[in-house]
Amino acid sequence: MGLFEQSQIPLNAAIKAMKLDPNAAAIIEQPERTLEVHIPVRMDDGTTQVFTGYRCQHSTVMGPAKGGVRYHQNVNMDEVKTLAFWMTCKCAVAGLPYGGGKGGVIVDVTKLSERELEALTRGYIDKIAPFIGEKLDIPAPDMNTNAKIMGWMMDEFSKIKGRFEPGFITGKDLSMGGSLGRTAATGRGVVTAAIEALKVRKIKAKGATCVVQGFGNVGSWTAKLAHDAGLKVIAISDVFGAIYSEKGINPYKLSEYVATSPQHSVKGFKGTKEITNADLLAIQADVLFPCAMEGQITKANAAGVKASIICEGANGPTTPDADEILKEHDVLVVPDILANGGGVTVSYFEWVQNLYRYFWTEEEVIEKQTDMMVKAFKEVYELSQEYKVTMRVAAYISALKRIAVAMKFRGMY
Ligand code: GLU
Repeated sequence: MGLFEQSQIPLNAAIKAMKLDPNAAAIIEQPERTLEVHIPVRMDDGTTQVFTGYRCQHSTVMGPAKGGVRYHQNVNMDEVKTLAFWMTCKCAVAGLPYGGGKGGVIVDVTKLSERELEALTRGYIDKIAPFIGEKLDIPAPDMNTNAKIMGWMMDEFSKIKGRFEPGFITGKDLSMGGSLGRTAATGRGVVTAAIEALKVRKIKAKGATCVVQGFGNVGSWTAKLAHDAGLKVIAISDVFGAIYSEKGINPYKLSEYVATSPQHSVKGFKGTKEITNADLLAIQADVLFPCAMEGQITKANAAGVKASIICEGANGPTTPDADEILKEHDVLVVPDILANGGGVTVSYFEWVQNLYRYFWTEEEVIEKQTDMMVKAFKEVYELSQEYKVTMRVAAYISALKRIAVAMKFRGMY
């Protein structure tokens, strides 16, 4: 089963539980527009390589499409469509005035020079420029893209349009209209969601143990902010391997180590022992934070999860089969479309600040973000109680309730 087909399983469970009008369901089940582009890039050795990219606007019912751009060798149309669908639902759960979109380019960024990466980024924007804009579709960072790449995108788009329109993209550097608090925002929201989940499970955050899979932007900030909130981070992994320490790992010191270590990996960090990624997922801890990528907790390893709570920093880390097993084992899963909505929430704040040309303090951003996350968590948790469904299905119910009303008033069904 492909990723998009899999992603429809909890959606369909929500449609059934809430008895959504089948006409509304039929609209939400398909993306509005999907674009495939081919981007020629003159490489440093003089040859020309043609890269394939995508942009999918899953829904614009609630507002402009919104979502990041991913650079990865395994990007494909099915994945981009799925990620765009998750953005539609994520924005609706968070109560943002956005639809959902996502972009991706098939590329192994480790194989490109800085100049080639810039040329590819500008080429991608040239190809999708007619379809994006601050009132149409607003890109942002995702896996392997960052503020530097957003800067090139912003510059290229400004040249094409011949005007300054910073609200067309979020996750920018502060110097060009970025928002304070954006870099850490996804991790911050993940930790806020975990603290709410710990309350549900009646576990004190202070001294609660946690495990973080992934040490990119989301994983590293989740680890740091969990540590700041008093949780003990006992294991962390990255693409190269995983480390464990019963005494706890200081994620700030680990970040410094990763920046200076030759492989830029968590492996070999002082005071930790090396474990496998499989060991990491099976550690006895209060919270497991999957912050790497899709399809990590599966039918094959879900029964081995000993955490009380799974709080999903990544998009789609748990497969539908695994969800069934986790439910039987009474693991509380805080789903991606709720837990990792902090990133797009602060992207929304960035867009608002761009439209106003007026900027907020970091404290204001954090306060507003935390309020929105706590509110969304409570709404989803209450729906899960009301409909007697998992928090994942409840999150889709929350999203569908908002989207269906807007579709009705637009006269779409
Ligand atoms: N890529 C992030 C996500 O998956 C952020 C998207 C955004 O800020 O638009 O939620």
